[in-house]
Amino acid sequence: MSKRAYNFNAGPAALPLSVLQKAQEQLVEYQGIGMSIMEISHRSKEYEALNNETQQLLKDLYQIPDGYNILFLQGGASSQFAMIPMNFLRPGKVGSYVNTGAWAEKALKEAKLFGEVHVAASTEADQFMRMPAQDEIQIHPDAAYVHVTSNETIGGAQFASYPATGDIPLIVDMSSDILSRPVDVSMFGMIYAGAQKNLGPSGVTVVIVREDMLKDLPKSIPTMMRYGIHADNNSLYNTPPVYSVYMMNLVLKWIVEQGGLEAVEKINVEKTNLIYNAIDHSDGFYQGCVNTDSRSRMNITFRLANEDLEKKFIKESEAKGFVGLKGHRSVGGLRASTYNAVPFEACEALATFMEEFRKNNS
Ligand SMILES: *Cc1c(COP(=O)(O)O)cnc(C)c1O
Repeated sequence: MSKRAYNFNAGPAALPLSVLQKAQEQLVEYQGIGMSIMEISHRSKEYEALNNETQQLLKDLYQIPDGYNILFLQGGASSQFAMIPMNFLRPGKVGSYVNTGAWAEKALKEAKLFGEVHVAASTEADQFMRMPAQDEIQIHPDAAYVHVTSNETIGGAQFASYPATGDIPLIVDMSSDILSRPVDVSMFGMIYAGAQKNLGPSGVTVVIVREDMLKDLPKSIPTMMRYGIHADNNSLYNTPPVYSVYMMNLVLKWIVEQGGLEAVEKINVEKTNLIYNAIDHSDGFYQGCVNTDSRSRMNITFRLANEDLEKKFIKESEAKGFVGLKGHRSVGGLRASTYNAVPFEACEALATFMEEFRKNNS
């Protein structure tokens, strides 16, 4: 096999090599059934076992308490931006949104199509360089829920800890940092994440929702948009994204092999420290885009003195086997996405490359 790329793509993103190899081994024949997992009914006992085991792995890894439903949906995290207000935003109530960047803005904009929304806090005036502190967040008295974005994949800011919202359900978009560190699930009304950054390939969206949130949902919600339908049918109301769930199952087992979420967090801190140190010890050659206390452990955003130098950085990095270091087209600059599956060695190699590039260009 040719050398694996140093994959810093933002999403879809790196998958663990051992997971890809396991999938390759099982591609044509799954568990002695004479077929692949993609060729059998989603009502078969094999798929049902896979579906249940995948839920259980999530439950164990996050120590999800009883009283939560784990759903595997389609339509990406972007569909959740609509499903949340459709299900939870009733007349007379307000959707309270914390605006921390591009993804939070999309969620907020979509909710406006369905009802009244309110900005509980915004860091736009600071170019989204930081996450808001607890005391900046003003929850609307009629809030149906508070929505936050755990990690801004494009801007590179991440909540170090989540705001407390009392009796108002806290809903969090964890698309780009789910399973990157332990969290206390009991503080959330709902967690959701598209799989293609930290959980597997695209095609499945994980929703972890507290059961009491699903009581008395409005009758007018289209069937496929109703959380209750998917909860009542164990995510098998219609054909699920079988292969994406299968791949996620392998990724979850890989996280267990790594030693669980404490171990994964520790290595993520070590990995990102290598790159943040390269930024911080560069005498201003590299400029981090986010304040130190809001820096993401998943998407490291930084800039060089000018765009020409950034172009040169990209070009030379590509020649050395690095992929995906260009910033999002909407903000420019540079971004290294260091999801769980990005190996320590890739981060070490990037830090070394950054140091060499600095020496040669300053
Ligand atoms: C990628 C991303 C999304 C959008 O996910 P899709 O699955 O493409 O709809 C939403 N929120 C965050 C934080 C993301 O990183």
